[in-house]
Amino acid sequence: MNTLRGLRPVCHSFGPTPPSTRLFSSTGRLHADFTHAVVGAGAVGLAIAKRLQQIAGASVVLIEKHGMVGSETSSRNSEVIHAGLYYGHDSLKTKLCLKGKQMMYDYCSRNHISHMNCGKWVVAQDQDQLDSLEDVHKFAGSIGVPTRFISAEEAKQREPDVRAEAGALESPSTGIVDSHGFMQFMHGEFEDLGGITALASPVTRIQAPTAGNGDWKIWTAPPQASEPQPSSPSAAVPELEGEDTSITAETIINSAGLYACAINNMILPEERHRTPFYAKGTYFSYSKSFPNPKTLIYPAPIPGHGGLGTHLTLDMAGRVRFGPDVEWVDSPNDLAPSPNSKRFAAALEDIKSYLPGIDTDAVSLDYAGIRPKLGKLGAVASGKGFQDFYIKMEEGYDGFVNLLGIESPGLTSSLAIAEEVYEILYRGGKASQSMDRQEVIREPGKEFGIGGDQ
Ligand SMILES: Cc1cc2nc3c(=O)[nH]c(=O)nc-3n(C[C@H](O)[C@H](O)[C@H](O)COP(=O)(O)OP(=O)(O)OC[C@H]3O[C@@H](n4cnc5c(N)ncnc54)[C@H](O)[C@@H]3O)c2cc1C
Repeated sequence: MNTLRGLRPVCHSFGPTPPSTRLFSSTGRLHADFTHAVVGAGAVGLAIAKRLQQIAGASVVLIEKHGMVGSETSSRNSEVIHAGLYYGHDSLKTKLCLKGKQMMYDYCSRNHISHMNCGKWVVAQDQDQLDSLEDVHKFAGSIGVPTRFISAEEAKQREPDVRAEAGALESPSTGIVDSHGFMQFMHGEFEDLGGITALASPVTRIQAPTAGNGDWKIWTAPPQASEPQPSSPSAAVPELEGEDTSITAETIINSAGLYACAINNMILPEERHRTPFYAKGTYFSYSKSFPNPKTLIYPAPIPGHGGLGTHLTLDMAGRVRFGPDVEWVDSPNDLAPSPNSKRFAAALEDIKSYLPGIDTDAVSLDYAGIRPKLGKLGAVASGKGFQDFYIKMEEGYDGFVNLLGIESPGLTSSLAIAEEVYEILYRGGKASQSMDRQEVIREPGKEFGIGGDQ
């Protein structure tokens, strides 16, 4: 028996089920150690792991390099439940955002996860911007997302501090969510279902199935002497004592966020390697209680922009924050909020355009997150070079579902992305041959039942 030292089952704090423990063996087996291995425990990896563990007979291992789940991009974002206004007609982003939004509201309501359907306004200060709001409104109508123009009178009455010279478009289905509460709940549910989490286990190498062995082999480095802090995730495999350990799995899902290209490159041949690009977004806090809008405020979208503009969002405590801006950086570790005075001044200008009463002395640098990009591409469909989500079973690599470029609206879409991965696997891939009971779904506290997130 070769017990894997790098894969540590963890305990969680709710539910009647005792912590999952399982011995791992990679010798003398007839079957893989796990049915599914999910690499990366951000919001997306957690949602996928939970979804796959719901399948009767599944044994999912969720492998995370940090000592805790959700400590990279999933805890460095705006926590907005996006309506799906910007991503074009036939994109995965639109499809999964619309479905994910509904699933997110249902899931959070059902499980008492802190969230609020506070709505948002997109504001225009001139005719060009108003034209772009018209486009957003038309597009929203065509995909069944409610939006409406607010009269100047109503705008003044509801948000007297917000400037919207040329008009404001309201998106009532936008909201906010406590992303940490959301991830913690999914993690607990995953483990209640019997899933195994391997923390502090950076994946270092992956071997695709061979003629003699039909399983994926995944190596992880042993737990690190000092685990990386959430504020400084390390790009490189850390220096470690001891040997890597390996497990086998029937399928592998790459949801490694900013490092997903690295996982891609461990598996696919050189001509299919990917180069990651990083678009950092810095946030700004606001220490005064006035002005304090009750609605999220976004500037009109700028075609080809890497993000959605320096907008105003609220957290669940009603605190205002601004951001994120867009800055191309070379490293996924470049997470310190950018103190660049030119960028700061530009962000303040953006903010003052829709919130002129802001006390700029009370605005300070807060935190930053980095968008995983596949090129220097735009986040919205208008303009050139739109980047969509990339979610595919890789050709010639049965059982490998690859998720790249999962930037915004990845949090909103996470539950729908999990469904998408499930469908990809069971629409005719390897998993559907080896597990034919996919319609039977487990729920926590019940051995079998019909359920899921919908
Ligand atoms: C500035 C910003 C604002 C955003 N705002 C919003 C928003 O308001 N609404 C919204 O819907 N979306 C938003 N997003 C997008 C959203 O945050 C992401 O799409 C989502 O969090 C991605 O989740 P993930 O699980 O794919 O990635 P991550 O959260 O990055 O998780 C990936 C995990 O993989 C792990 N990992 C990496 N390499 C390895 C390895 N070799 N071995 C083991 N583990 C590994 C990492 O440690 C990490 O925990 C925003 C993103 C940014 C950057």
